[in-house]
Amino acid sequence: MADVASEPVATMRSNRDTAHPGDILHQGCGHKSLLSSDDLYQYLLKTTVYPREPASMKKLRESTASHPWNHMATAPDEGQLIQFLLRTMNAKNTLELGVYTGYSLLATALALPEEGKIIAVDISREAYNLGLPMIEEAGVANKIDFRESPCMDVLQELVSQEAYHGFFDFAFVDADKNNYINYHQHLLKLVRIGGIIAYDNTLWAGAVIATDDEPLPSYIHYYKGFIRDLNTYLAADSRLEICQLTVSDGVTLCRRIV
Ligand code: SAM
Ligand code: CA
Repeated sequence: MADVASEPVATMRSNRDTAHPGDILHQGCGHKSLLSSDDLYQYLLKTTVYPREPASMKKLRESTASHPWNHMATAPDEGQLIQFLLRTMNAKNTLELGVYTGYSLLATALALPEEGKIIAVDISREAYNLGLPMIEEAGVANKIDFRESPCMDVLQELVSQEAYHGFFDFAFVDADKNNYINYHQHLLKLVRIGGIIAYDNTLWAGAVIATDDEPLPSYIHYYKGFIRDLNTYLAADSRLEICQLTVSDGVTLCRRIV
């Protein structure tokens, strides 16, 4: 599998000592939350998320937990958010940049109507293939057009076709963080006015406020500048209405208004 920009495992305090046998700690399985208490995160998952998580998503999540890069997977509470948004806006056509084993992709596919379509892009098909059997079992593989490609190539190809201008209702952006601003310029042409672009990991494990001498992994330091630039850029972009959510590792929702 190609080398990829990693994602932060939560750097906040852990309450592992108070975990109960059988709990899947979000740090342990790579899920992320900016909440400062594991107990509180477990409460949220057990009360609001897991009881409503579709069986296919649970299976995909659990099978991804043993994958070496499982910390990249979208957290289940964020999967629930994506589904809520898609159903609220009656989305039919979406873009997914950064697929990995497909947790957010499956969440999306399940939330779209039968005629819904997703163009899903990742430089590696290998991880997608791990989740694919569960996507097929769920009966939603027909909604997915997976493209093994750098995101920029697909975005450029779509922008070159007039038919795709304003075509998408929703885009979930979760690939290489250093390119989000470049993707943004294309996405604003592809997503319809009133449509939503969701950028993931926009608080970057809290490192957006870290100083350079803080003892954090080097990749966290490396990408924090790109995320900060993105956040500043989006906040000043008058073509959008925005909302920074603290769900998971931070998700910024951008609604195209012009
Ligand atoms: N949304 C996924 C989920 O729910 O599990 C997680 C995506 S993971 C954080 C990021 C993915 O982006 C990786 O699978 C990686 O291969 C892919 N990626 C990184 N750089 C890319 C690029 N330039 N073009 C396409 N995919 C890329
Ligand atoms: Ca992510």
